[in-house]
Amino acid sequence: MNKDSDLPFTKKQIEEIIEKYPTPFHIYDERGIRENARKLYKAFSWCKGFKEYFAVKACPNPYLMEILKEEGCGTDCSSLPELMLSEKVGITGENIMFTSNDTPAGECKKAKELGAIINLDDITHIPFLEKYAGIPDLICFRYNPGPLRQTKAGNVIGNPESAKYGLTRPQLFEAYKIMRQKGVKRFGIHTMIASNELDADAFVETARMLFELAVEISREAGIEFEFVNLGGGIGIPYKPEQKEVDLNFVSEGVRREYEEKIVKNGLVPLKIFMENGRMMTGPFGYLISRAIHEKHIYKEYIGLDACMANLMRPALYGAYHHITVLGKENMPLTNKYDVVGSLCENNDKFAIDRMLPKIGMGDIVAIHNAGGHGYAMGFNYNGKLRSAELLLRQSGKVKLIRRAETPLDYFATFNFSGSKYKF
Ligand SMILES: *Cc1c(COP(=O)(O)O)cnc(C)c1O
Repeated sequence: MNKDSDLPFTKKQIEEIIEKYPTPFHIYDERGIRENARKLYKAFSWCKGFKEYFAVKACPNPYLMEILKEEGCGTDCSSLPELMLSEKVGITGENIMFTSNDTPAGECKKAKELGAIINLDDITHIPFLEKYAGIPDLICFRYNPGPLRQTKAGNVIGNPESAKYGLTRPQLFEAYKIMRQKGVKRFGIHTMIASNELDADAFVETARMLFELAVEISREAGIEFEFVNLGGGIGIPYKPEQKEVDLNFVSEGVRREYEEKIVKNGLVPLKIFMENGRMMTGPFGYLISRAIHEKHIYKEYIGLDACMANLMRPALYGAYHHITVLGKENMPLTNKYDVVGSLCENNDKFAIDRMLPKIGMGDIVAIHNAGGHGYAMGFNYNGKLRSAELLLRQSGKVKLIRRAETPLDYFATFNFSGSKYKF
C-alpha cells in the first residue's frame, strides 16, 4: 500500500480548508470510519449479538462517537467525562461498557445510573461497588492471565504479569461465586491484553483462552455467561511495510474456537464483544501541519507549526507516523530530516532521520494515523495549545467539530477572584 497516494483528500482541498481553518489541525475521514466499522461487523456477522464498544479514549469527540453509534457501536468508557459524552450522544444502558481501574466512587455511581455494563477490575471492587453504587443485575470481570500470556515488544500495555489490570485466575472464580450469592443473574467476562497488536493469531488465542475460562467458571460457579469481551487492541499499520490485521482471518479463527468450546459445551447463545479504539478511528485521522522553519546544524531540521501537544506518540513511544508532503508524493526521498515541533523538550520530534522529499517553507504535511490516541493524548505543557478537529464528511464538506484552543482556554481554570491577574 502506498500511504502517500491513498489520502482521502487532495492538496487543493486542504489548501482551501486552511483558508478557513489555519494549521495545525486534525482531520477525520467519515467515509473511512464508516467503511471500516462495517468491515468489522461483516467479519463477525456469524455471531449473533456481536458488538463493538468503541474505546472512547482513543478519540473522544461526540461527532465521531455519533458516526460509530450509527454503525452499531456502543462505547467503552473509563472516566466520568467519557460516560457523560456517551450519554450526550444517546449511548446509554448496556450500550456502554464501563471498564475502569482504580475507579473513583463517583464514576461507579454514574455508570450504574446509566445502566452501563460494569466491568470490575478487581475482587476488592465488589464491596466498593456495593457501598457506593449498589450491585447491578449484570456484572463483568476483567481477567489478567499473568504469566500464562506474554505479549510482544511494542505493546503499550506491557506483559500481563506486570500490568496493573484485572483479576488473577483464582480470584476470578471466587468473584463470580460472590456475585452469584449477591443475587446477580447476568454475567460477562472480559480481558484486554494487548494494544496495537498486528498479529491476528493473538486475538484468536485470546478468544480461546476466554472461551475455555467461561466454560470452566460457568461449571464451577454455577452461572451462565451472556457475553465474552475480547478487548480491543487491534493494531494498525503505522509503517508502510506493515499490513493491517485481516479481520476475516481473526473472525474465522474465533469462530472455530467458538464452535469447539462454546457450542460443544452448550454455552450458546454467548455474545462476543470487542472494544477497539485505535483501529476504529486511527487510520482515518491526519494531523495537518505546515513547515515554518528549516535549520541546518549538526542535523537537518524541519520545524512544523504542530508539536507533541497535538500528537504525543512519537515522543512517548518512539512511534513511527508516516509523513506525506502534500504535492510532493511522487518526488524522490532525497533529504534526511528530523521533523520537529516547538515544545522545549528534545523528544518533540515527529520523525527522526526520515527520508523525505526536499521540504520548502510553507509546505503542508499530513501526518498519518493520528486519529487514535492522537488529539486525545494532547496536553498543555509549555503553554502549548491543542489544535482544532475537523470532520471530512462523505459529501466532501468539512465541519469544524472542535475549535482550536486559545490562550484564554489555557487560563480558564485560574482563580482570578479578587486578583489583578484577570485577562
Ligand atoms: C485503551 C483500551 C482499549 C482500546 O485500546 P486500542 O488499542 O485503542 O484498541 C480497550 N479497552 C480498554 C480497557 C482500554 O484501556
